[in-house]
Amino acid sequence: AETLLKVENLKKYFPIKAGVFQRTVGYVKAVDDVSFELKEGETLGFVGESGCGKSTTGRTILRLLDKTDGSVYFEGKDIFKLSRKELRSIRPKMQIIFQDPYSSLNPRMTVGEIIGEALVDHGIVSKGEVKDRVLEAIEMCGLAPYHIRRYPHEFSGGQRQRIGIARALVLNPKFIVCDEPVSALDVSIQSQIVNLLCDLQQKFGFSYMFISHDLSVVKHISHRVGVMYLGSLVELADKHELYKNPLHPYTKALLSAVPIPDPTLKRERIILQGDIPSPANPPSGCKFHTRCPYKKDICSQEIPKFRDVGGGHFVACHLV
Ligand code: SF4
Ligand code: MG
Repeated sequence: AETLLKVENLKKYFPIKAGVFQRTVGYVKAVDDVSFELKEGETLGFVGESGCGKSTTGRTILRLLDKTDGSVYFEGKDIFKLSRKELRSIRPKMQIIFQDPYSSLNPRMTVGEIIGEALVDHGIVSKGEVKDRVLEAIEMCGLAPYHIRRYPHEFSGGQRQRIGIARALVLNPKFIVCDEPVSALDVSIQSQIVNLLCDLQQKFGFSYMFISHDLSVVKHISHRVGVMYLGSLVELADKHELYKNPLHPYTKALLSAVPIPDPTLKRERIILQGDIPSPANPPSGCKFHTRCPYKKDICSQEIPKFRDVGGGHFVACHLV
């Protein structure tokens, strides 16, 4: 498959302001030198503790936020170099689905209007065609046609997420950032939504960046998985490889907290000490060194390179 998205050394720093003049006194390094590629029809899972920069990475890639440094190529074009007009024409192809669809759905609009709005805004179809397209999208997301006349508050959490997906789907996207789309749902509903996303991918060849703190959900839906810690990717590999053979101590720690169904699979148990440090003042060298059981002298001095150690298994650790 072709490469759809290429992210190179992406950085997103938020200034910390203080004093009467709101002087910049430092930066929260929310995304700190992140690089990866995504192929057409591929799902790349992103895991890590909350605040590690997963969502900010997703939003910056979509240019919903300005970058601090680095590049994002979508279909070969650097999206930060596009004019406003070019960006507008590419927008429908890059969509996002949120954790809480309710907060992103206008309560005064009917579901039909919500799903049809972007279609009209982008001038994708004529007014006369909007309704057909909306009905098509809503049915593909498993909702009955009459629902288009109802309002968001009349729906359950799972149904709202279907509406959020229909709103993205109607625009014929190629790439969808799924930002914790099932985290607020009951477990039984979670699998329905994950299955819906998989079905739609089969049908339309979407690429997903699937953000979650739930390692089992990510394992189910993803082809490859990236692990983030304090704004940086520390490991990225094919999901089977990553779950069977994690190389980074942080990944090992995350996985060792998840029960394994197969008792013959032995796994080192690593309990993380301490809290995640502030991204405003991250540790020097390897940012994980304050919590790493294998820390050596070099770890606090040099930033380990994020590199391919074979077969597309990327890791950033001095000991690997
Ligand atoms: Fe641990 Fe050092 Fe590897 Fe960082 S570089 S994960 S501190 S061993
Ligand atoms: Mg988040």
